[in-house]
Amino acid sequence: PSAGPVTHALSSQVAGHANAVLTTEDDTLLIKQALPLELQFYQTVAAAAEPELDALRPFIPKFIGTLSLEGEFDADAPTNETSIAFKPLAGPRKDSLVLENLAHPFLRPNILDVKLGTVLYDESAPPDKIARMRKAAEATTSGSTGMRYSGFQVYDNTTGTAVHTSKAYKSISAAQLPEGLARFFPIASAAPGVSTGTEPPLNQGLPSALLHPILELLREDIADIRDALSALELRLVGASLLILYESDPVRAEEGVKWMLDDERSSSSHSSLDDDDSDSDDEGDVADGKPKKPRKPTPPCDVRLIDFAHTRFVPGQGPDEGVLLGLDTFLRLMDERIEVVARCL
Ligand code: ADP
Ligand code: MN
Repeated sequence: PSAGPVTHALSSQVAGHANAVLTTEDDTLLIKQALPLELQFYQTVAAAAEPELDALRPFIPKFIGTLSLEGEFDADAPTNETSIAFKPLAGPRKDSLVLENLAHPFLRPNILDVKLGTVLYDESAPPDKIARMRKAAEATTSGSTGMRYSGFQVYDNTTGTAVHTSKAYKSISAAQLPEGLARFFPIASAAPGVSTGTEPPLNQGLPSALLHPILELLREDIADIRDALSALELRLVGASLLILYESDPVRAEEGVKWMLDDERSSSSHSSLDDDDSDSDDEGDVADGKPKKPRKPTPPCDVRLIDFAHTRFVPGQGPDEGVLLGLDTFLRLMDERIEVVARCL
């Protein structure tokens, strides 16, 4: 089984163009076609020294660099879950972006792509595309609320498989947005009395005691993203918030405990105090092999992604449509936090 392809389609892709994203065999890196504006955005942010861009940097995927592919996807050849056929390039070599795969640290990531903004077309797009994207904004919650759910996956705990939303889910009404978030952040109910009747199936989700701190951590980060973007003169056409959280209860609990301990220790005492026990842990030997303790990973993550149509617009102020979308989403998060808090 070690003779697999060097790259394969990202299995946890929840939105966007089909098979647009590849990952390396070890799943740590993501490879996507380098469109000029997206490449320019990542290079500018990587090189910039402005404090306004410093504030954004923790909230975009780590940019590793570019890569030239020797071939391209063969759309006519059969494709399966683990391999994509390549054919030699007809024209000049195309560059790809190499980014960190945000899903990699998770065992069973629930992932939501929230497309931001009211304007979904670039000013340089041909008239027919502009007309199409205007219609798309009007036909979805993008036009009125500045955001829409592009797609999401939620693990089913009984089968251990990821369940994806259908394409049609994009066209839900603004009134259905809270229900959408409840589907993405379902409460696995331990106590049968608390079910509200509108909650998703019980074989999905985390208990409220884990879901609640995860929602609060995400909310805090999204508020920081909003603050960072309000100080930047950008047009983030077609960009998304990518929200990920661990749905495996054991891993999620480990991550939540670690995050909360970390917050406590960083605010009360110096990290020098709590680093004296690790020489004992590392010496553990089981079955003749040294047992390496796995470093806990955060239970959740949220980043901005997809900058293929993002431009810097000096002197023109922040992207009001994107800020509107973030405000809508923060309100939805607050509502969900309240519902989950009632189940604590
Ligand atoms: P497109 O132009 O096709 O919309 P995106 O950059 O939006 O390309 O990526 C499409 C999908 O791939 C996203 O919805 C997400 O599921 C996944 N994805 C993109 N970037 C990353 C990343 N850095 N880490 C993990 N998943 C990603
Ligand atoms: Mn996208």
